[in-house]
Amino acid sequence: MQKQTLVMKFGGTSVGSADALVKAAQIVKDARAEYPRVVVITSAMSGVTNLLLDSAALASQGKVDSLPSAESTLREKHFAAADALIKNEHLREVTKAEINVLIFSLVDLCKAIAILGEASPRAMDAVASIGERMCVRLLGAVLQDAGINAKAIESTEFVVTNAHFQHAHPDFKATTEKTRQLLNPLMDAGVVPVTTGFIGATPEGVITTLGRGGSDYSAAVIGSVLPADDVWIWTDVDGVMTTDPRIVKDAVTLPEITYSEIAELAYYGAKVLHPKTIRPVVDAGIGLRICNTFNPTHPGTRLIANAPSDSKARNGQVVKAVTAIRNQRLVTIEGRGMLGVPGVAARAFGAVASTKTSVPLITQASSEQSICFAVPSESAASVLNALQAVFASEIEDEDIDRVWMTEDVSIITVVGVGMRHTPGVAGQVFTQLGNNKANVLAIAQGSSEVSISMVVAATDTELAVRSLHELIVK
Ligand code: ADP
Ligand code: ASP
Ligand code: MG
Repeated sequence: MQKQTLVMKFGGTSVGSADALVKAAQIVKDARAEYPRVVVITSAMSGVTNLLLDSAALASQGKVDSLPSAESTLREKHFAAADALIKNEHLREVTKAEINVLIFSLVDLCKAIAILGEASPRAMDAVASIGERMCVRLLGAVLQDAGINAKAIESTEFVVTNAHFQHAHPDFKATTEKTRQLLNPLMDAGVVPVTTGFIGATPEGVITTLGRGGSDYSAAVIGSVLPADDVWIWTDVDGVMTTDPRIVKDAVTLPEITYSEIAELAYYGAKVLHPKTIRPVVDAGIGLRICNTFNPTHPGTRLIANAPSDSKARNGQVVKAVTAIRNQRLVTIEGRGMLGVPGVAARAFGAVASTKTSVPLITQASSEQSICFAVPSESAASVLNALQAVFASEIEDEDIDRVWMTEDVSIITVVGVGMRHTPGVAGQVFTQLGNNKANVLAIAQGSSEVSISMVVAATDTELAVRSLHELIVK
């Protein structure tokens, strides 16, 4: 059957400069030749979301001195690309004027935050959304100027979410209805809708974001509700690689990756794909490809169904990839009085949840005398306070000896579906770390046996990743 609909998402670097935008425009043109219906989703230009959120964070401390410089950085970045690429003067000036209005709204929002002395999650989302909202206008105009019948449209008009600001959940039913209602007539008329990743709106129209790096998720949501045949994630590397090429330069692309492998990789820190991206595409049976805007002829990585024949990667190695999550702390609750006391774990994780912190890793002790888990460093202090409060009487009665945490650590994870059928992988992994003098502080293995995670001191992160990567690429 002929393929009909393609959703393509461009990441921050892929729209981060005039040069990148030229490449993105060519990619859209080429896709149009292959697919009658194409939807383009854009991130903010690289660095913009961080700049916006930093401005809001400073404003919440009453600091607005750096606002003029943020304003001019944003103006220069967007205007330079508009000036270089939009030849039609009217289109160029209209686009710049619209972007300017958004920059003024940032200034207004930051001033309001400074007066209030706090930035609510809702205000942070209003600020963060400006990056994608500026970029969608720029990219839409660049595509139009390149002869593509494109129309910029904000996803706030059709991605409906709950009001969980900064980590909003899409309402798939409402989103399906609105997305089809808005995008189908455009595509039927031969228009390429160009829309914002990362953001949505509550039913009342208040802007939300889906979480940092969430444009990938937007692509999966929009792709699944249309539904599209394929979702292509355009980024700045040749697909999903054996590890982060910023850590190990001889990392290589994995041509294919299974659902469960990519889920583990994304969850355990491979920034190349937001972890929430996988479920909607798998549920809707849509193809997913990750490819490089700067090397578009490279096939990149294709997501495939879990199949035993795909279990071995390069050189027959069962470990296919290594990832790292930095800036974590290991929290331990210990005490001999905990033995056999029911509900300690439930109360502990209840206390953690009350701080809105998620726990990426839990290690299990054979006795019930300690519970140990990882939390992001930024939440560690509030987690510790919450635990000390919930166990105040046990601590006083000395049933719990102490609740403590380590310095910064990293979670290193090796991933590969073939590990499930291969004895001795854990041994190989720990020998490799031991031989390279990387000290393992804690271990966890997922019940699916697709991954093994180890906690190491922050200073051992690169060493651990490099030495485990040698198990894959020798
Ligand atoms: P985008 O802005 O396109 O969404 P991101 O910066 O979010 O791009 O993700 C791409 C980056 O992910 C790459 O530049 C790379 O440094 C990093 N990365 C981490 N782990 C991996 C991996 N296993 N394979 C490929 N890239 C990875
Ligand atoms: N611009 C957003 C961020 O930086 C979303 C994304 O790039 O995926 O988090
Ligand atoms: Mg990303």
